[in-house]
Amino acid sequence: MSSGDTKRSQVLLIPSSGMGHLNPIVRLAKGLSDRGISISLLTVRPSITAAESSLLSSLPSSLLIDFPLAPFDPSLFPEFSDPVILRWEAIRRSAHLLPSLISTLSPPVSSLIIDITIASTFLPVAVAANIPCFVFFVSFASMLALCSVSPFVPHPIGDVKIAGGVLKIPYSSVPPPLRDPNHLFTTQFIENGRALTLANGIIVNTFLALEPELLAAFNAGEVVPGFPPVIALGPLPLEKKQPSSPSPALRWLDEQPDKSVIYVNFGSRSAMSMEQIRELGAGLEMSGCRFFWVVKTAKVDREEKAVEIEDLLGEGYVKRVEERGLVVREWVEQDAVLVHRAVAGFLSHSGSNSVMEAAAAGLRMLAWPRGGDHRVIAASVPRSGLGIWPESWAWEADERIVAAEEIAVKVREFMADEKLAETAGKLGAAATAAVQEGGTSDQSWRYLITKL
Ligand code: UDP
Ligand code: UDP
Repeated sequence: MSSGDTKRSQVLLIPSSGMGHLNPIVRLAKGLSDRGISISLLTVRPSITAAESSLLSSLPSSLLIDFPLAPFDPSLFPEFSDPVILRWEAIRRSAHLLPSLISTLSPPVSSLIIDITIASTFLPVAVAANIPCFVFFVSFASMLALCSVSPFVPHPIGDVKIAGGVLKIPYSSVPPPLRDPNHLFTTQFIENGRALTLANGIIVNTFLALEPELLAAFNAGEVVPGFPPVIALGPLPLEKKQPSSPSPALRWLDEQPDKSVIYVNFGSRSAMSMEQIRELGAGLEMSGCRFFWVVKTAKVDREEKAVEIEDLLGEGYVKRVEERGLVVREWVEQDAVLVHRAVAGFLSHSGSNSVMEAAAAGLRMLAWPRGGDHRVIAASVPRSGLGIWPESWAWEADERIVAAEEIAVKVREFMADEKLAETAGKLGAAATAAVQEGGTSDQSWRYLITKL
């Protein structure tokens, strides 16, 4: 990726906090740069998570522009202990500092691309400064639909029907914070939804074949009248090559037979209770399948305690499973894992990036949504043929623990389901076709580039 200093103008991308937001905007930046657009990325340092720090330090420093934030007092938000959310709020409250920073940049900024979670404060600033501004919606069109109608649905929220029933989101799938009208997430979500109509376009990491009716409804004005163009340009490119110095995890995968391993990872933010971790561990062992499992016990990686895997899963676990299971507690190169020849399935929390990455790789998924927008996204998994979602499996806030036996049976069924491998492969082929020259997402990229 290069900043293309010789160009006459540049596009400034403004991420929000958390790896689930930084990873895709960096891919978007790469896609733009590959198409000859000069770009910079606004960054706030130090990063909250180690994963963000490491990604930022892998980028050319000439691309990164420091954004010093306005003073922010986290004690005003006693209900939030999560530093990722507090950083997001601090960025949101610093939008007024943008115009003076932009006035110092060379080449001049022709357009902004901003993360959805900071839209309500940054869009009005962009409009006042007369700078075209696109929103990067870091989730699927189904979640965009919920966000864009949120100012118009009655709160407290119930079942949500969008565009006359093109999309139905049952109350049980609504992100839990949205059930509380006074929750900061809810008030921001609604404000962001309302602000979207100020944007010149909304970029979504999805593709037409994945959400055809909904994308058509958006662009026919049937979701919200007068809504900006929804630009579906996914899947954003994965790093398809295996790293030159593979991690021990990838080396372990290299030793496994083709299409034999289930990869288990719940993303950057979903930690399970100790009890659920133990049941999952026992379930994977009982399934008899080969597995590669990334265990997290804290929402923020820097807060992970140095608990030994044996202390989590019981003495002897690692030894018992070593013939066919690997358990790690660190960040892994998910891009490379998903396309590894040994990997046959993905047990995931259904974060939007993870699901889109699985779709891009044509890899079957077993969805186990944990919170946030995961159930809205998980609904796309069976609908698209990408995989299965056992809907009775509990999410984070539920008391219920999914027992080892239940997990074992489901994992076995899932890994034996060749039909699923086939339908997921077909979706992967559709994803590849979408981004190839002349494909639906390629056309969206071309449209976007003419507007920047
Ligand atoms: N989101 C949104 N508007 C907001 C905040 C969030 O549309 O004001 C969407 C966005 O796509 C985000 C998703 O909801 O990725 C889930 O947000 P959450 O904070 O639960 O998860 P995270 O982004 O931390 O993975
Ligand atoms: N990821 C990764 N290695 C890990 C965990 C996550 O590379 O060990 C990446 C994953 O590929 C995805 C992002 O981090 O791009 C997580 O985003 P997602 O929307 O799936 O979930 P979130 O972490 O926001 O809940």
